[in-house]
Amino acid sequence: MLGFPLPYRDELLYSVIARHGVHSGIVSPKELLQEVFADTKIIATPDLPGHLKLVAALYPPKVGPTSLDLLYNHTLFPLYAPFIGEQRRQQLCNELIANKRHSAHVAAGVAASRIKQPEYLRYCPGCMQAQYSRYGECYWQRGWQVAGTRDCVVHGALQNAPIHRHDVHRHQYQAACFQVCVIKQQAIGCWQSCLIATSIETLLNFNGLPVPELVQWGNWYHDLADAQGFCCGRQVEHEKISAKVIGFWGYEWLASLDLLPECSENCWLKSIFRKHRKAFSYLQHLIVLHAFLKPAWCFTEVMQQVASSRHPAKVTPPQVAVSDNTQLDNYRNRWLSAARRYSTKLARENGFGDVYAWLYRHDRDWLMATNQQYCIKPNTCQVKTDWRKRDHENVRTLIQLRDATEQDLWLPRRTMNWYLAQLQRKATIEKNLKHLPLCRLFFDRHCENIEQYQIRRITRIVIRLNLAGEYLKRWQVLRLSGLSEERLTELAREFLQEIIGI
Ligand SMILES: [Zn+2]
Repeated sequence: MLGFPLPYRDELLYSVIARHGVHSGIVSPKELLQEVFADTKIIATPDLPGHLKLVAALYPPKVGPTSLDLLYNHTLFPLYAPFIGEQRRQQLCNELIANKRHSAHVAAGVAASRIKQPEYLRYCPGCMQAQYSRYGECYWQRGWQVAGTRDCVVHGALQNAPIHRHDVHRHQYQAACFQVCVIKQQAIGCWQSCLIATSIETLLNFNGLPVPELVQWGNWYHDLADAQGFCCGRQVEHEKISAKVIGFWGYEWLASLDLLPECSENCWLKSIFRKHRKAFSYLQHLIVLHAFLKPAWCFTEVMQQVASSRHPAKVTPPQVAVSDNTQLDNYRNRWLSAARRYSTKLARENGFGDVYAWLYRHDRDWLMATNQQYCIKPNTCQVKTDWRKRDHENVRTLIQLRDATEQDLWLPRRTMNWYLAQLQRKATIEKNLKHLPLCRLFFDRHCENIEQYQIRRITRIVIRLNLAGEYLKRWQVLRLSGLSEERLTELAREFLQEIIGI
């Protein structure tokens, strides 16, 4: 096609198609679809669009981008690619390039992810003005649409355009322009959001191979925990990890993304340090990597390390067909009686290991199904716990902890979870608080509420600026404290005005 626009740097393919509509004066969405795809049922997808081969073919050969260029430089694919394993990456790549309907959102884990995608297309007024003065038109930039950050690193808070990303008008490509994207004053972003935005930019421009396998990510994180001294034998000490991650990012920011580590066994942070059974999102990876690695860590180096780390792929031997049914019945009966007598695990240790091995090789499905029936839970008989004693011991530890940390202004908010994370047997205590009245009383009295925590954050910044001999500016104190006028509680506002005098 003549005149199909070349993409700008970091422009979404969605935006290129929308600009083509504007350049050619096409008003009807269906007509635009017909012209670009020769198919009016295509859905206008900003993040992971398909049919890339078709779009690449609109450019004159040798001049325009290839379908792979479009995928890596003009969609959000690079955010997912490093974390889903090579086979899935390849599959997803083929799906998006081919001219067919695709299920990329499912394959990339976007659909199942707990990370909420932004509801609207977003824009940065500052960047848009720069685009306009440089090119005479505006376009949708990739980094603006990424879940996990709300800011442009240069200009501040991103704004919502009145365009739903998953809209009823889903066949329509809308161009970025000043009628739709109103220019507004941008609030300064919080440091966490800016840090993530910087990493997202790196990720979006990373198209290196090879892609590590999930099992390699799992092993690498285990080694990372070990290197920090967070392992006791093979066991990862999840509570220390949780404290480190929360200490780095703060409760509020993690909670705002629904990524605050939980106490439950299937908490995402625990799972990421275990054997990876599913892919984790770029955001979960970045949260851990920033909290654990030195400030100037480099994503390419991490990828190289992970991809070259040990990879003990488990090889499942193929099943061997059995022609003799009597032999099969014989093995099945022997295993059944052993499993009934000992339970499946102990049966193998009591002289039936060979039966297990034979069945595993010849009749695996039956073996697995049978074992599920006879698997017994570990003995749960417990020694009666002396809760009174435990209550006294724990409250003593909590008081010592409070006294030892009271002067430390830089700690994360001292919530119940924070205190619990410092205790041994955190989960048991949390589950049995009803038996621990003294601990409950302690939490009621000494956990830090949001007002107190905001005042502490302001205080530490004011002290730091005073020591540096800097003049106190309200906006600067707020920004460095990770606060904003909107989030400021009444008490913290009074503190700023009356005590600090700004
Ligand atoms: Zn900007």
